[in-house]
Amino acid sequence: MHRSGASGRLRLGVMGGTFDPIHHGHLVAASEVAAEFDLDEVVFVPTGQPWQKSHKHVSEPEHRYLMTVIATASNPRFTVSRVDVDRPGPTYTIDTLRDLRAQRPDADLFFITGADALAQILSWKDIDELWSLAHFVGVTRPGHVLDGMGRDDVSLLEVPAMAISSTDCRARVAANHPVWYLVPDGVVQYIAKYGLYEEAAEADAPPS
Ligand code: ATP
Ligand code: MG
Repeated sequence: MHRSGASGRLRLGVMGGTFDPIHHGHLVAASEVAAEFDLDEVVFVPTGQPWQKSHKHVSEPEHRYLMTVIATASNPRFTVSRVDVDRPGPTYTIDTLRDLRAQRPDADLFFITGADALAQILSWKDIDELWSLAHFVGVTRPGHVLDGMGRDDVSLLEVPAMAISSTDCRARVAANHPVWYLVPDGVVQYIAKYGLYEEAAEADAPPS
């Protein structure tokens, strides 16, 4: 997978997410950015404990990691990294990018985010260093406004609208509704095999 462009450097997409579960919205976003930006590879990076979601229940990192592996296995340009799953403590994107930079010094990084995540970006830790570590690519997502804040280091890309969220997938499983065709077949089967999301995860805990 070593393609040398004018710079001779590998073009590496980075698709971070909780992936609880991974769904076709994530996969289409990564595929579209890979095609449009001529990426050699897209590495999917499931979070450890996401800092924005610490108050919510998030499935075990190992389940999220394995579902991501299953979902990406058939694409030769898609890979999965354990950097965030294996790092203790909450996941910050700055650490993800620093670690990937250290592991892949030959690569230029393209960090892929949906419109909702891009909107939050300015509240992220060490925002100024983020821009120096990666080029950012924001993609459209139904229900969210895509705004690159006029920055040169942020590109915007319209992708086919996939009105799918992991939150909705979890709610569907809890309500016994199908998630076929929203997530890859192997992920449907993985969810059933381990009984994930059978209880409504976002419901408030009952009073004790
Ligand atoms: P949750 O509902 O649990 O927050 P999610 O569907 O938003 O899950 P995340 O793992 O939070 O998925 O998202 C990872 C990244 O993928 C984010 O940058 C998010 O904006 C992007 N993304 C998620 N779903 C879509 C979609 N349907 N279209 C485009 N981008 C998406
Ligand atoms: Mg989300």
